[in-house]
Amino acid sequence: MYCYIHIPFCQSRCRYCRFSTFSWKNDIDKQIYVDFLVKEIVEYKNLDAIQRRFPSAREWQILLKSIYFWWWTPTSLNNSQLEKIINTLKNKFWFENDIEITLETTIINITKENLIEWKKLWVNRLSLWIQTLNNDSLKEIWRPNKEEIIEKLDTIKRDRRPVSGVNKSLSISLDFIIWLPYVKIWEVRKDIQFIIKKYDFVNHISLYVLEEYYDYPKKWQELSIGEDEYLEEYKNCKKYLEDSGFSRYELSNFAKQWFECLHNKAYWDHSDIISFWLWSHWYLNQTRYAYPNNFKDYYAWIIDYKEDLSEKDLFLENVMFWLRTNGLEKIVYQKLNKEKINYFIEQKLLDIEDNKLILKDDWVTLIDYIIKEII
Ligand code: SF4
Repeated sequence: MYCYIHIPFCQSRCRYCRFSTFSWKNDIDKQIYVDFLVKEIVEYKNLDAIQRRFPSAREWQILLKSIYFWWWTPTSLNNSQLEKIINTLKNKFWFENDIEITLETTIINITKENLIEWKKLWVNRLSLWIQTLNNDSLKEIWRPNKEEIIEKLDTIKRDRRPVSGVNKSLSISLDFIIWLPYVKIWEVRKDIQFIIKKYDFVNHISLYVLEEYYDYPKKWQELSIGEDEYLEEYKNCKKYLEDSGFSRYELSNFAKQWFECLHNKAYWDHSDIISFWLWSHWYLNQTRYAYPNNFKDYYAWIIDYKEDLSEKDLFLENVMFWLRTNGLEKIVYQKLNKEKINYFIEQKLLDIEDNKLILKDDWVTLIDYIIKEII
């Protein structure tokens, strides 16, 4: 079982963000929120669903393989709040010996003291947003500048090692974005090259195209590379990463051997995921649940939706996930629209490799369209 904890606060607002994040919430609001979360874990209402899923397990004999603190900046909570959440989970669930605990964080929160405290809380993986090392761009998107990023990565280099009672170093993942304003062609590749040569402890890279996930202000189109170039940049980065020992295990995610993110893989494999907090989703035995995305309904403990996935729904979701990850086995793609698949193969959008249907790198940004056409 995997666990996801949604923290809807941010240290500050990024200019391109379209999410409901609460950078303006004060410490009292955050404490109310943490207290409610802890109560939610203790009195977990979905116990019935877990027990139906694991009928032979005694109450809460559930093993967690990973905990992922995500959306948006979990480290906007203080360390005693994080400790309270993790300790509550420890009391409620059993932890695998090598449980992976990931904190998404911003460069701003990297300090020697925090690194030590997080390690003591069993956090063993950090996911950090770098986005770019171009200072004009960082200023435009309201993020810390390159000098601060380098200083904080140097801090990690010095202080990521084990502390007393914790025998593992922190594992580090960095995010980059293609198509930011002011960033020239090949610049993202050069940034990645600079970082992974200087910081050889980085073992996971996430690489996104801005347009796919965020609002894109019109004026940025004139300040960035053209649409035809960002795919070149993606392919260039992918080649460089693969040549440097990072395998692509999903269109946007690259990892050294043994460092793929467990939570990501659980999501794409349809593994059981429980989650807590506002706007979080969980998935148990072909049923998906979600909390509302506003505090009032969340505090009233309303479940926003519950969806039982039919075999057909599950198959279609798997097609989507598998095309993003390992490709589609013959037994799967034979059940899809053959005409469309043959057409896309002729047009060189799709290809067959090792008996699997895969997406060609030139067309990664068309994946949603291609999936819609072939299913
Ligand atoms: S850190 Fe993420 S969620 Fe928070 S403002 Fe920036 S883009 Fe939005």
